[in-house]
Amino acid sequence: MRQLRVYQTQAVVIKQTGLGEADKILTLFTPDLGKVKAVAKGVRRPGSKLGGAVEPLTHSLMTLAKGRNLDIVTQSQIIDGFATLKSDLWKVSCGFYVLELVDAFAVEGSANRDMFELALDAFRYLCQDEDGGDTILRHFELHLLSMVGYCPQLHRCVGCSSSIGSQRNFFSAEQGGLLCSCCGSRDGSSHILSLRALKVLRLWQKSSYPEASRVKVDGKLAEELQQVISQYIRYILQREVKSTKWLQELKKFAVDNTRRGVYNARQSSKTVSDERKLCRLITPGLSKKFNA
Ligand SMILES: [Zn+2]
Repeated sequence: MRQLRVYQTQAVVIKQTGLGEADKILTLFTPDLGKVKAVAKGVRRPGSKLGGAVEPLTHSLMTLAKGRNLDIVTQSQIIDGFATLKSDLWKVSCGFYVLELVDAFAVEGSANRDMFELALDAFRYLCQDEDGGDTILRHFELHLLSMVGYCPQLHRCVGCSSSIGSQRNFFSAEQGGLLCSCCGSRDGSSHILSLRALKVLRLWQKSSYPEASRVKVDGKLAEELQQVISQYIRYILQREVKSTKWLQELKKFAVDNTRRGVYNARQSSKTVSDERKLCRLITPGLSKKFNA
């Protein structure tokens, strides 16, 4: 069958790199073709028609022409630019984290509509969220892992298959799930998982985000949940996710400055305005970091 020379698809730009003086090479994430590499010609020239519709963290409807090596973006129309997300340093960083995981787990040429919708939902919830986005990221990670075949086993011991009770349990990234007290204490690479964290993980694994967001998670529990999932993802990918470190630095910056009374994220208009200023200062550098 003759291949179509021109096709239309929804897409989110995962990353972009400069090509020559005026062009960019884009890595797109699409629902039916997975990851696609494409060229946006002339996009770095002022007044380019493609402009903002090929920026990362933008949901667009694109028309592409088949190329010999890379496809060429001929038209792009913004469906949702997620402006609220882009105006907040923390949220935009969470958005780039979602893109980095999509880039790591999505496959070129392989349809994944569920993953596409999951990523869009994460961006939409980040736009609406007032509480920091931790639950959005954890919910995204758990559901992403299930979609790509790495759903962590949270109901039976992955060592001996015994059911998990309320005693001390462990999580093993290497074995992809829980270890009972007996197996866990013999496995040096596993970590203790609190009962609170286990209950939240089990609930989030089977919930929609609106349901997951009803669970109240304090700072200590949020940190435990972040660490256990992040260790698991690091083990699967066999490398660090670079935006994890950036998110931790941002959080530490906010906490340190809140303690000193300098910066209190999202608690007064003055500090939110400070946050916006900081965002404007850092966002171009941030984009560069992720577009490299
Ligand atoms: Zn066991």
